[in-house]
Amino acid sequence: MTPEDAAHTPAPADIVIRGGRVVDPRSAQDGIADVAVRDGRIIAVGQVSATARSTIDARGLVVAPGFIDLHSHAQTPIGLGFQALDGVTTALDLESGTLPVQAQYAAAVTEGRPINFGFAASWAVARMHVMAGIPLPTPAEDGTLTTAMEVFQRNQRLPAWHRIATRAEVDSIIGVLADAVSQGAIGIGVLLGYAPASGREEYFRVAELAESAGVAVFTHSRQMSNQEPGSSVDGALEVIAAAAGSGARMHMCHINSTSLRRIDDVARAVTKAQSRGNQITTEAYPYTMSSTGIGAAFLAPDRLDRLGIEASAITYLPTGTRVRDVDELAHLRATDPGGLCLIDYLDGDDPVDVRTLLRSFDVPGTVVASDAMPIVGPDGRYLSGRSPLPEGSRVHPRSVGTFARTFGWLVRDLGALSLPDAVLRTSTIPAEILAPFVPRMRTKGRVAPGFDADITVFDPHRINDRASAIRIEASVGVRHVIVGGEPVVIEGALRTGTAGRPLKSR
Ligand SMILES: [Zn+2]
Repeated sequence: MTPEDAAHTPAPADIVIRGGRVVDPRSAQDGIADVAVRDGRIIAVGQVSATARSTIDARGLVVAPGFIDLHSHAQTPIGLGFQALDGVTTALDLESGTLPVQAQYAAAVTEGRPINFGFAASWAVARMHVMAGIPLPTPAEDGTLTTAMEVFQRNQRLPAWHRIATRAEVDSIIGVLADAVSQGAIGIGVLLGYAPASGREEYFRVAELAESAGVAVFTHSRQMSNQEPGSSVDGALEVIAAAAGSGARMHMCHINSTSLRRIDDVARAVTKAQSRGNQITTEAYPYTMSSTGIGAAFLAPDRLDRLGIEASAITYLPTGTRVRDVDELAHLRATDPGGLCLIDYLDGDDPVDVRTLLRSFDVPGTVVASDAMPIVGPDGRYLSGRSPLPEGSRVHPRSVGTFARTFGWLVRDLGALSLPDAVLRTSTIPAEILAPFVPRMRTKGRVAPGFDADITVFDPHRINDRASAIRIEASVGVRHVIVGGEPVVIEGALRTGTAGRPLKSR
């Protein structure tokens, strides 16, 4: 072979995925094609003749852009491993968020993550820090770092932060958040519903900060109630007003669980506000059960009628048993406020309630986001590190099954979404929401030449979630997951890996 011949031989691809149904709605691609990957990027979609170091036979399978989860608190190797098996290639905690930003990113990079990750700045922890003197986590001698989620759960019932902040305190909170964004936090996560006594003006200041920094606010809205005053509609209108008044990008987290039975009114208001140019986006997860720390403000015994539930609709995860009555609820809230629980906010066996859940996706562009929770070990504490799953561990099934359930239940079984529409909502639109202020998102969310090789290959006939309230089980039907050109799931099995990269706003 002469040097000239060698120059004309096309460089081999690292991976070619052959013969799958490649779905990329933005280019109207939905048909059988090959996908070639080299150096972490997609270099060709179509009929690919190039040789490859490795080949994936995707006949009979769907080849989709890797799923992008805007709402995952499962920020550990084990939690993100389960998400990889659910087809997720990027999982971000944008609602609860984190602090301090640089140290938390550094700890995650040191420990390694199988899929891409990132965080918003945590308004709640900034508020606890400023108003209640709670110190921000600092690395231990072995380099480990308490997560912001643990700090939040442990301190959420402290009276010191459940009030209107003074002007000086608001200035300090805004200062902490501005610093966090300048360090690369992906916007500001606001657990407004966990501090319902906080000021409206403070929330508006947060929106103005986001607007000036060019990032988004990700809000768990203030109200969660089927009843006035202070209904879920009121909570949604506060977010809409902040978007209109500040011009900021405002994202409403899990509109399924915060809207409860008022979803039609919320959907109408959001849709109208969007059509008038306000930058409001929404997300939902496909379950009629929610999850949080049992000490959450909105689970106070005297508020249960607003949620339309009895105490027995709540399952306390450390024991896996249903709460007997309001007295037991009050006891658990006082003794273990951060103890995770499950809440049947709708009845999954009632077709009317299932339709209520599905109406969350009537809002244009509602994305699928899991709200994945940290896994609780048999001792009731959050699991960390890379240890195998201990017997008796528990977590809300959305943490490990949201995306497979979207394609198995919503798309295949119910026909509530078309497959290309589901690809838009699980990958393309989440990337587009973040692309204006997260540079690395501009090459994610598509299966097209030049985009990152974050790819999920799944069997549309078999894909399903399997986890339940009492048992953690990985999803089935996700055959291959590639992150930045590196195989993370092969033939349905997770390789322990560190392919994940941090995503930041700057
Ligand atoms: Zn939430």
